[in-house]
Amino acid sequence: MQQILTAPRLLTGRPDRHFSPGALLIDGGTIAAVGTPSEVEYQASPKADRYDYPNSTILPGLINCHVHLAFDASPDPVGALRAVPDGELLEAMHERAHQHLRAGVTTVRDLGDRGGLLVRLRDAIARGETVGPRILVSGAPLTPRGGHCWFLGGEVDSDAEIRARVRHDAQVGSDLIKVMGNGGQMTPGGPGMTDAQFTPEQLRLIISAARSVGLPTAIHAYTTGTIAAAVAAGVATVEHCTFLGDDGAAALDDDLADRMAAEGIAASPALPSGWRRMWDMLGPERAEAIADRLRWLRHHEVPLLFGSDAGVPISQHGDPVSTLELYEHIGVAHADIIQLATTTSARFLGLGEITGELRPGLDADVVVVDGDPLRDVQSLRHLRRVLRAGREPDGNS
Ligand SMILES: [Zn+2]
Repeated sequence: MQQILTAPRLLTGRPDRHFSPGALLIDGGTIAAVGTPSEVEYQASPKADRYDYPNSTILPGLINCHVHLAFDASPDPVGALRAVPDGELLEAMHERAHQHLRAGVTTVRDLGDRGGLLVRLRDAIARGETVGPRILVSGAPLTPRGGHCWFLGGEVDSDAEIRARVRHDAQVGSDLIKVMGNGGQMTPGGPGMTDAQFTPEQLRLIISAARSVGLPTAIHAYTTGTIAAAVAAGVATVEHCTFLGDDGAAALDDDLADRMAAEGIAASPALPSGWRRMWDMLGPERAEAIADRLRWLRHHEVPLLFGSDAGVPISQHGDPVSTLELYEHIGVAHADIIQLATTTSARFLGLGEITGELRPGLDADVVVVDGDPLRDVQSLRHLRRVLRAGREPDGNS
């Protein structure tokens, strides 16, 4: 079944490739043609369904590279998680995944599964049994006994446990390995944000063991020392990536940022949707330091991904736009914001030949919004239509 969509604007996801007016031809679940309406129309079958959106923009579905479908975004997501049995948790994760899709996010990367539940959901969606976003799944994050998020089930101490855990994750079908390089704030009594949880040698072992089973590694890292060890070991993405010294003050390392840029190691800042509230709590000086750090990463041309840490307190599932507002707030051009949340995020998750761009041959992961996101990021809230591989979130088409 073919469908043709037209609108005054079509953004392919690449800042140098827009059509005004634009049209998109979808054949089943795949993009068949992109261009001006006259270019696209002659390629369509006369029976194609036609959808004209006279006040809208067509663009790729968004990609959220850092979500936690296991967490409910309440003030105590860990307590809530530990209270629910697997069956109930799986249902809740399905609903949260759907919230992302309904908000225009057609791909999510989840960084904290429990008990392999998300692999089941991912596969049910991929088989077409239920509609949801494409999900990339890490297993339970690797963490030392009693370490950050130990309750998800990924505790490892010895080298043998590390190797066994990575092998297990690969066998159950994880898409990547997640390692908790530093502590954090979510685990009562656990290590703090500036505590290193693994030695550089252990990080090297984790990342090379993952590579040997064909999986990339994402590291949760706040400190410059932990980031440096992970970059040296060939990590794929650095989550949070806050470049803090052991005392918690900024410790920006220009050479390390240049190395990330040169080696194509992406920073995934995982900025919560409620960042304004967080910034109010931190005060203007510390908030400005966060903004400066993001500008500094951009200045060094470190690839930045879009992620919201959805599920932790103050970060809702299904609210991509509030996080994108932060990029607008620090002065990133609108075309660059769209690229970051689509094409760039797809590429650094290894999905560049599958999604993230409106280009023939890729999956028809598409959103239609009223207004012009190149002028105002708020227009991304005004969704007319969401398609995931050509199908609507409610499963009707
Ligand atoms: Zn997170």
